Order: sequence, then C-alpha cells, then structure tokens
Amino acid sequence: MYLLEDLFQLLGKGNVLTGDDCAPFEQDWRKRFLGKALAVARPGTTEEVAAVVKLCAAASVSIVPQGGNTGLCGGATPNTSGKQLILSLSRMNRIRSIDTANDTLIAEAGCVLQTVQAAAEQAQRYFPLSLAAEGSCSIGGNLATNAGGTGVLRYGNARELCLGLEVVTADGEIWHGLRGLRKDNTGYDLRDLFIGSEGTLGIITAAVLKLYPEAAERNTSWVTTNSIANCVALLALAKQRLGPTLTGFEIMNANALRLVQAHMPQLTLPIALDAKQAGNEPYAVLLECSDHEGGAHAQTLFQSLLEAAFEQGLVHDAAVSTSMQQRAHMWHIRESIPLAQAQEGLNIKHDISLPISAIPEFVETTSQALGVAFPGAQLVNFGHLGDGNLHFNLQAARGANAAEFLASNQARCNSLVHDAVHFRGGSFSAEHGVGQLKASELARYKSPLELALMQRVKTAFDPTNLLNPDKVLSA
Ligand SMILES: Cc1cc2nc3c(=O)[nH]c(=O)nc-3n(C[C@H](O)[C@H](O)[C@H](O)COP(=O)(O)OP(=O)(O)OC[C@H]3O[C@@H](n4cnc5c(N)ncnc54)[C@H](O)[C@@H]3O)c2cc1C
Repeated sequence: MYLLEDLFQLLGKGNVLTGDDCAPFEQDWRKRFLGKALAVARPGTTEEVAAVVKLCAAASVSIVPQGGNTGLCGGATPNTSGKQLILSLSRMNRIRSIDTANDTLIAEAGCVLQTVQAAAEQAQRYFPLSLAAEGSCSIGGNLATNAGGTGVLRYGNARELCLGLEVVTADGEIWHGLRGLRKDNTGYDLRDLFIGSEGTLGIITAAVLKLYPEAAERNTSWVTTNSIANCVALLALAKQRLGPTLTGFEIMNANALRLVQAHMPQLTLPIALDAKQAGNEPYAVLLECSDHEGGAHAQTLFQSLLEAAFEQGLVHDAAVSTSMQQRAHMWHIRESIPLAQAQEGLNIKHDISLPISAIPEFVETTSQALGVAFPGAQLVNFGHLGDGNLHFNLQAARGANAAEFLASNQARCNSLVHDAVHFRGGSFSAEHGVGQLKASELARYKSPLELALMQRVKTAFDPTNLLNPDKVLSA
C-alpha cells in the first residue's frame, strides 16, 4: 500500500505502527469498543500532522485522532474495517511557552494533563482542569471532548480554559489560531467550533491555556447527608457562604462508596458507612474551598458554613481535613469510584446534566422507576453536583452476570434515564461527549434543525468526511 510507504518515509518506520503494535490503540479505556486500524501514525510536529492528513486525503483513508485514549464514548477507537488510520498526538508533548504576565501557557496537543498542571505550578500558577484520568489524558483530547472534571464549578470546562488553538484542517492546512486574547470579537469563533468536536472537524495540535493564581489555602471536608435534596440544599448554602472560594462540590451515594470499600479496602472512608444499611443513602459530599487570603480567613468561612449546615439539619456528620495527605485521601476516594465500578464489572453508564433545581425530584422519581424496571440492580450515583452533572449508573446485582445484564438491559435503561433527563430539560451527555457510544442518542434527542445545522458545519469543515467518520453524527 502506497500510503504506508509514504508514511514510513515521512515519519520514519519507528513512528508508524502496524499489525499487533497497533493493539493498545485499537481498544477504548472501558473495553467497550475494539477496532482494527490500518496503522498508527505518530507525527512529532504540526507540519508532519498536516502532511499525514494530505497523504490520507489523497488516498481516501479516514483518520481517527487519538490523545491519551481515556475517552469514555469510543471516540478515539477506529471501526473494524482495518482501513482507518489512527493519528496519535502522543509525540507532540512539548510545553512551547509560558507567559506569566498574560497568565497563559502554550501546550502541544499530546501533553498529558498532569504535565500541564506541573508546568503551571513551576511558574507559581494554577491550571484548574482536573479529572481522574489526568495522568494519561492529553490536553488535545481534553479540548476535543470539552472535558469537565472537578474544577468546573469555579473555573468552567476545558472550553473556558482555552484562549486559542492551532489546528490542522481536513485538507491538511494549518490554522494558526494561537491567540492569547481574553477579548476578540472578530467574527465566528472557530476555536469554539473545534472545542468539543471530538476530532470530527480538525486535528488540534496546540492550545493557549489560561492560568490562575495559586490558592493560599485549601479546605476540604467530607460530610454525610441523608438525602439528595439535602445535598442540593447544602450546595445552595455553600455557594451563599463561600462565594467564589467554593471550588469543589462532589457527591457520592452509599452504593458508590460500597464499591470503593469492596475493591479498594485500603481506602478507609473518612466517615464509615453503617454496615447494616443498604440502598442509596446516605450521600457523602466532598466540599472544597480555595482561598487566596489564607490563614484564619478560609478556616473561619468554612467553619461557619459547616455550623450553619448542622443547624439547618442538612448534614449529620463531617470530617474536615487537617493535612495535605488527608485532603488527597478524600479526593482519592472520590476519584477511585470509576475504577471500583470497572472492577465490579460492566455496568450501564449515564453522564447526565440537569438544572440543579430539578435534581432531587429527578433522582427520587427515576431511581424508583429503575427499581421497578430492573429489580435488584444497584444505582451508583456520584458526580459533580455543583455543575448539575451526575454519573447515574446502574450496576448488576452482586453475583449476577454483569456482561449479560449490560447486553440485555442497556437500551431500555438508557431510554428510561435519558427520556427522564430530556423531559426535564437536561442533557444525555454532560462531559464525556458523544463519540460512537451516544451517536444514536444525539440523533434521538436533538431537534431536526439542530442536527441539520451540525451536519452543515461538518460538511463545511470536512466535505469528504475524512476526519473521525461516524463519530458524533452517525451516517
Ligand atoms: C478514570 C477516568 C475518569 C474520567 N473523568 C472524567 C471527568 O471527570 N470529566 C471528563 O470530562 N472526562 C472524564 N474522563 C474522560 C476522559 O478522560 C476525557 O474525555 C479526556 O478529555 C479525553 O482525553 P484523551 O486525551 O484521553 O482523549 P482520547 O480518548 O484519545 O480522545 C477522545 C476524543 O477526542 C478526539 N481527540 C483526541 N485528541 C485530539 C486532537 N488532538 N485533536 C482532535 N481530536 C482529538 C478523539 O478522536 C476522540 O474523539 C475520565 C476518563 C477516565 C478513564
């Protein structure tokens, strides 16, 4: 095949993987999708990415961009034809520059998120995007999926943290949009179109990212409440008392914590669960306040919030971290839930968002409906309540065959949950994107006009459907 020969020549044989060497790139993190690639190309510069795209366009070989391959919707997995090229950005992993006066950093797309955080820290700045996959996901993947994570409440999604992009287009041109401007109203915002487009409109090769001052003090607390309604009431109180210093508000139901206990027994919960109790309650809330004044100021604010929460009967127990280790331990438990769920076995996942005011009624009504439709299954409900985003997952009853449970119930369960979300003005994909997993949900829940406009955008950017075909918009 001429394309492979051309790629060997362009990138060197070591940077074009074929055969079994492609295996780690051909399956997604959750092991839901397994594809077969023609090859994996690993360009090291933007010019090489552009040249790869031109070669693929000439050979009519479609391209699946891939960063850290931690995406949860199969967006970076090729189809099974053996004819698609995976374009891995992993060699494009340089921090190009840091401008502390402008509070910006330019990173190449293949930089691992943790590397970007560390580079910011070295410059006495803070890069607030944070998620459990930060040790392996890439900044290009974060932007392509408009990732959320645990800092959205205060700092916004990946979109809000990006000022400019460098992108290789579907015809192999390079768009030099690395502008570090906080104001730029000069026509349509191309950057915003590429962000969240999951590799279907262009290949992100570098980005200008926003930096923030480091907080002087962080206070983290683990509290328990007996209902989802109390979690929402506590969130309102925390916003009122802590204002912009409130930087984290995560919830975990009792089923989620039981999974962590079962699979990571070394992680002791700050507040133990009652071993005799079953079901969704109590909920644990992980609250974080980041303050720039430091010292007594942050502690006083935080203490007054907890006192008010106890007085109003919103919480029944609280553990306040007194060291960096305790804080890290609390976050580690929260971030271990996806892994504990994966170890328990396949499960039906939902990454939904709703207006926060609609959440208590949604959770009550929908968990009852799930209980009736799927008797014995466990609702594992956790996530970023501060952003109205829940991971509202259904796990087979303990001892049941999880793969069978998933295969026979997923479609019905998805419809039940997503219809309930749609009815209340919510979204079937809050932060994980659409990929191939949810392309049919997009077709089901978006209006014909929205779908037609999206299709026109795709056609304008990628008229030959070269980039990540059948992702986001299904054929
Ligand atoms: C344990 C765990 C926890 C997670 N927690 C969160 C969370 O809290 N919040 C959240 O939002 N997500 C979360 N995720 C999902 C995932 O980490 C994010 O979606 C992440 O942003 C994907 O980055 P990646 O580099 O791994 O992208 P990949 O998986 O490689 O790709 C994802 C998509 O982006 C496209 N893409 C990748 N790089 C580029 C590029 N340079 N240009 C154009 N397109 C590109 C791919 O084609 C694909 O469609 C989690 C995942 C795991 C495994």
